[in-house]
Amino acid sequence: MSQPVESRLPPPLCEEFVYGDWTLKIVKSHIMGSQCEALLGHCTGDMEVEKLCNRCRYERLLTLPSLPDMVFADNLLQIKHKSGGSITFNALEALQCVNDKEDTLQVAHADVWKEARADCEFAQKVVKPYDWTYTTNYRGTLSGGIVAESTDERIDLNKLREREEIKFYEEIFLYEDELDDNGSTRCVVKVRVMPSGLFVVFRHYLRVDRVIVRVNDTRLYSPASVSFILRETSTREAAVSNLQVDSLVYNNPDLVWQHLPLVKEQCDKLVIEKS
Ligand SMILES: [Zn+2]
Repeated sequence: MSQPVESRLPPPLCEEFVYGDWTLKIVKSHIMGSQCEALLGHCTGDMEVEKLCNRCRYERLLTLPSLPDMVFADNLLQIKHKSGGSITFNALEALQCVNDKEDTLQVAHADVWKEARADCEFAQKVVKPYDWTYTTNYRGTLSGGIVAESTDERIDLNKLREREEIKFYEEIFLYEDELDDNGSTRCVVKVRVMPSGLFVVFRHYLRVDRVIVRVNDTRLYSPASVSFILRETSTREAAVSNLQVDSLVYNNPDLVWQHLPLVKEQCDKLVIEKS
């Protein structure tokens, strides 16, 4: 007798790491199935959303006409202050920040796009306009009394390049798709804890072959023994024809961002709300 899908999969990896007043929680699990994953029978339309399997929950809560091939529905990074406030990164909310009405790439790069589209079967298949590149402007989910306020303070990236002991490190995949072999879209969050502070990079990387490379980054930094987090979000992108680097670099999200011109930036400070 064949076993239900979920019982054959390894259990998710759950970790916690305490750093001063912050607790990091990490969940890493398997890729969401392409159909209903319910253990017994199937999810039904009248079920409450919390009782649905991941696939059915995503389909209920998202308005996108399709989902990336690889979605890590259970994966999570949460950074929680002892006061109860937290910032969380997960795939569902990242996908909720994808444009579900407009093919944004076509809008922004009409000329290059027209040319590339002629050869790009994938783009031709798209019927209802939406951002099929799954570019997200997600910056993390705030809850429990953490609020964003404006600031002039900036993250000192040079200081972060200094050699230091790594007390904790994790890389958590949220979603990924190869765009039918026309490129790559990938959403990953990484966390690193050092004696001097806690550092997070939430990155969406997009490459559409012969068209564009784009990196949306949200960086968080909390210096040791403080109860705030600096948050900086940037969009960097370039048409492939304008890139001065070879494909080994632009195929690598961790290298290419430094070669892309800055298009947009937003900085704030996450603080514990005074009660
Ligand atoms: Zn289901």
